[in-house]
Amino acid sequence: MSKEKSLIEEKKEQLFFQKKLVWKESNNDSIQTFAENYKKVLDLGKTERIFAQQMKDILLSHGFEELNSQVPQKGKKYFRVVNEKGIFAFVPGKQSISNGINFIATHIDSPRLDVKPNPLFEDSGIAFLDTHYYGGIKTYQWMNIALALHGVITKTNGEVVEIHMGEKEEDPIFMISDLLPHLSKNYKTKPVGEVFNNENLDVIVGSVPYQFNTDEKDAIKLFVLDYLHEAYGITEQDFFSAELEFVPACNARDVGFDRGLMAGYGHDDRCCSYPAIKALIDTKTPEKAAVALLFDKEEIGSVGTTGAMTHLMEVFIEDIMKQEDGPVSLHKVLSLSSCLSGDVGAGLDPHYKEAFEAKNAAELHKGVILTKYTGSGGKGGANDAHSEFLGAVRSVFENHKIAYQVAELGKVDIGGGGTVAGYFGNRGIQTVDVGISVLSMHSPQEIIAKDDLYELYRAYKGFFEEYK
Ligand SMILES: [Zn+2]
Repeated sequence: MSKEKSLIEEKKEQLFFQKKLVWKESNNDSIQTFAENYKKVLDLGKTERIFAQQMKDILLSHGFEELNSQVPQKGKKYFRVVNEKGIFAFVPGKQSISNGINFIATHIDSPRLDVKPNPLFEDSGIAFLDTHYYGGIKTYQWMNIALALHGVITKTNGEVVEIHMGEKEEDPIFMISDLLPHLSKNYKTKPVGEVFNNENLDVIVGSVPYQFNTDEKDAIKLFVLDYLHEAYGITEQDFFSAELEFVPACNARDVGFDRGLMAGYGHDDRCCSYPAIKALIDTKTPEKAAVALLFDKEEIGSVGTTGAMTHLMEVFIEDIMKQEDGPVSLHKVLSLSSCLSGDVGAGLDPHYKEAFEAKNAAELHKGVILTKYTGSGGKGGANDAHSEFLGAVRSVFENHKIAYQVAELGKVDIGGGGTVAGYFGNRGIQTVDVGISVLSMHSPQEIIAKDDLYELYRAYKGFFEEYK
């Protein structure tokens, strides 16, 4: 009896897939150090503009050069900032670029509240900036939390003014008010979408009338504009050419007594973007030409000059191809290339198990997620990676002892989502999604696991080092 049992156990061990706990596999100190550095980057880089600038500074400090109109020199590492909101970086490989490129593509924009072009108004003794939400949000999560304001205003004389307010201890913060529970009886039975109206995401920015003159019409709005004029030299119409974003004012924090998790704003998708840049920097001699692409606009469809569909990517690739001696065709190079699309997946949340299909759900602390397809309604819009490519990527992960799991976003037909993967597939590039799991995705404070983050860095590095 006992002999038979041990045979069963042996067979199970041989044939069943067991998810691995990353903490058991990877170095604890490395995990903690990586997480601390990441938290600093996350706290400073709450918008795509600031994050791109931070990555530029990191690349410059590691010997990368900005590629403008100069002809790239053989063997050198280059980067390019794209319209201040995206960044592409390149390291030459052992093989010629004509053999194809290994890409890691992520995004650095996150859901937030954008200030409207005609934003400022006063009502019942309070001045507000009206907003238009960006990306997929649950409206109520953005109410009654401390908000900071970041962005730029370009004047007609070409001067670009930066605004950053709400991050320092001494700064004021901004807020959207909510109704007290005492008067919320009529709201409690209404659908949540009716109670929290996205048009009402008006952020409090003032309450004191100019010269304390309460009789004057729009005196509070005037106070706010006068302050902005004094501080930044702008008038009301300068909002027409502004990009101002309200984001959560709080910083990333450890979660739990054991400090295994981190809450923070914008893990999606900076928790893939930072490891992608770090992996690129730390891979001294990649097998093939290695390129990290950090895009903007993923949350609204990867459109525009900074989104993953942009041809500015091809322009960058054409420019780095000038390192090669012979003629090289851009589309041929792309057709020989491979891409890990770095984006997050939904972590299994025990309070909402009904949204997940357990055996195909990602779990925290179980390593990176390999996602064959995303999409919705029968894989609609998905990249759906090829079996052969999946097998080859798994082989790299197994060689590097990466803890990984495979997952779908949630139950069939319960919703869905996408990543930049499809836009690389469309270019003839073998592509698969590789990211980590997140709880409370797209909320002002998303949660990830520190060990998953480090494992993702190792996975990306392994891909650059070894993938042929
Ligand atoms: Zn994302």
